[in-house]
Amino acid sequence: MPNACVVLNGKEIASSYLANLAKEIAELRASGEVLSLATVRVGEADACRLYEKSIENLLKKVGVRHLSAVFSENVEERELYRHLEKMNADPEVTGIMIFSPLPKQFRLEALLNAVNILKEVEGRRLLHASKNRVAPPTALAAVALFEATGWDATGKTALIIGRSGIVGKPAALLMLDKNATVTIAHSKTKDLNVHVGRADIVIASIGKPEFIKGDWIKPGAVVVDVGENMVGGKPVGDIEFEKAKGRAAFISPVPGGVGPVTRVMLVRNLVALSKLQSIDHEHS
Ligand code: NAP
Repeated sequence: MPNACVVLNGKEIASSYLANLAKEIAELRASGEVLSLATVRVGEADACRLYEKSIENLLKKVGVRHLSAVFSENVEERELYRHLEKMNADPEVTGIMIFSPLPKQFRLEALLNAVNILKEVEGRRLLHASKNRVAPPTALAAVALFEATGWDATGKTALIIGRSGIVGKPAALLMLDKNATVTIAHSKTKDLNVHVGRADIVIASIGKPEFIKGDWIKPGAVVVDVGENMVGGKPVGDIEFEKAKGRAAFISPVPGGVGPVTRVMLVRNLVALSKLQSIDHEHS
């Protein structure tokens, strides 16, 4: 049989994307919106210099202004904060980007936190792993229940069922930060029972009473049930509790599992925010 494999051509794909973007940018310009990207580079590392050059060429092609700031490796971090604040406040700056890796004396995470989230062009703040990560309290609560088992998630398979923005997606990121191998299932997932049967850790957030059958659970798994479905005036989880309990090593009940921890996580976020803010203030 002939080889039917198609080699995807990145150059072609890039130029077709760029052509569409150039149109959008031209339309924005016609309506008075001039786009600009402020970049911050510290030091002369080849990789960052070359990346900046290629970005500059690209921006020129599509009519976006480039405001380049280059600092020496000896700059004080305080200087970088001042510059970022100026860029944050400048209405003519659309996006801000910090080239990385930074020389090791600088703290990328803290600097990214000083960038106005609406201008952080690489979207790194959202996904940057951090112990101070602010995440939706329910997802944090689900992971806190997992942590209470004392298990190390490293190398374990974690199945997150549900992909809502307040539970499933953030819980997947949090488990990824814990070195689990993460799968996210949703309503279009096939053979959910097979996925459940392979998972060392299950976090369910579907919103359907006892949808996950107890005999799907891998013996010895950790099972966290986020579901809170009112049945006959009582909250019932997404997991068939009694049967799952017979197989799991740990399981969270409904009510009395994730719910009470969720409220506490709101306070935990407040503390995390105050830490992030003090990192910013330290340097302003
Ligand atoms: P949601 O926004 O409705 O999301 C439900 C998710 O479940 C969706 O991603 C959906 O997939 C997926 N799903 C639906 N049917 C499925 C199926 N048959 N197989 C696999 N996945 C399926 O719900 P949510 O906000 O995450 O909440 C879910 C449950 O958690 C609810 O019972 C809610 O009451 C409870 N909850 C509890 C707390 C707490 O503090 N304890 C907080 C928030 C929520 P698609 O994306 O494909 O539609």
